[in-house]
Amino acid sequence: MDFSLTDEQQRLVDTARKFTRERIIPVAQKLDEHGTFPSEICNDGWALGLMNVEIPTEYGGLGLSCTDHVLMMEEINYGCAGVGTTLAGNNLAAMPLILAGSEEQKKRYLGALTEAPIFAAYACSEPDAGSDVAGMRTNVRGQKRWITNGGYASWYTTFARIGDPKDRHKGITCFVLPRDTPGVSVGKKEDKLGQRASNTTDVLFEDVKLTRANLVGAEGEGFKIAMKTFDRSRPWIAAGATGIMRRALGQRDGGGHGRCPDLRRVRLHQGVPGGKTDAGREAPADLRGHLANPAHGDREEPARPGRLRAPFAGAALRHPGSHILRLTDPVGGSRAPV
Ligand SMILES: Cc1cc2nc3c(=O)[nH]c(=O)nc-3n(C[C@H](O)[C@H](O)[C@H](O)COP(=O)(O)OP(=O)(O)OC[C@H]3O[C@@H](n4cnc5c(N)ncnc54)[C@H](O)[C@@H]3O)c2cc1C
Repeated sequence: MDFSLTDEQQRLVDTARKFTRERIIPVAQKLDEHGTFPSEICNDGWALGLMNVEIPTEYGGLGLSCTDHVLMMEEINYGCAGVGTTLAGNNLAAMPLILAGSEEQKKRYLGALTEAPIFAAYACSEPDAGSDVAGMRTNVRGQKRWITNGGYASWYTTFARIGDPKDRHKGITCFVLPRDTPGVSVGKKEDKLGQRASNTTDVLFEDVKLTRANLVGAEGEGFKIAMKTFDRSRPWIAAGATGIMRRALGQRDGGGHGRCPDLRRVRLHQGVPGGKTDAGREAPADLRGHLANPAHGDREEPARPGRLRAPFAGAALRHPGSHILRLTDPVGGSRAPV
């Protein structure tokens, strides 16, 4: 199978890489430390076309494929997972509309994202409904949790239950809600351990009046729309993990852009062989090849293998990630540079 990039894809990678080196890496540590939302970086990324990349050209987007998006996400997350998550948040909010929105909704909401550097959020998870999407309880009232861009979003793509919770996936419906909809408010902000530059909040619903104009797709189709959205978004997250892993392996080898210039010394001190460590061996050499499956290039096809790819990349990341932590912070848990 040929995994080589087209000229256009190589240009996209080069642009994202340059942007990451010049705009993200120099400030990433400070953003993460203080949990600062990367508004300026996103404004500049938006101007370069690095935001909302899968929005079709009819609505002002670049209409790029999932494979293009994956390539871009790997580069951005190499610099900062918080910035990567922020950019992914907009795409996640847009995807249900791309997949199932009416023409009017696409023009209004997707068009707004490409006209100005604004944010949107995908509000699906709840305190007791994460992996188990069918367990959600929100109807006209409810609490969404872990919502990326929650505090900055101009609109929310959300999911609510019409009917009894016992109906599980059958009763779920997708809606798009402008932020100023009566009854919609932003709740507490998560003080996360990582991806701290991204904004993650609760979004609260209090007797929200849901109308036909807010309905995305057909009534009761929400679960299907959410699953199709995840099929498209999981490869972005997996690519993010790949970018983080690439950076971690670079740090391990004493190169790259980090604060640990002499890991070889630490490795020797700990008796870790100076050549390839387990971290390097375990990291799949061609993870990008796995992610950039040609099946993802077709915008019409749901990327089902994405379900397998996100946990695969996550698991692959955990090994070099914990290995780097052990090397750079042998006493464990200090935020100060070694
Ligand atoms: C940084 C960040 C940003 C996020 N952004 C968004 C967002 O924008 N919008 C949104 O809607 N959500 C968002 N989320 C929420 C995310 O989608 C959920 O965290 C995720 O779905 C997992 O849900 P949970 O945290 O409730 O964990 P759980 O579902 O409670 O899972 C906990 C553990 O149990 C395991 N597990 C779960 N079910 C099973 C099972 N049946 N069998 C075996 N093991 C199982 C899981 O693998 C996991 O290890 C975000 C989360 C994070 C961390």
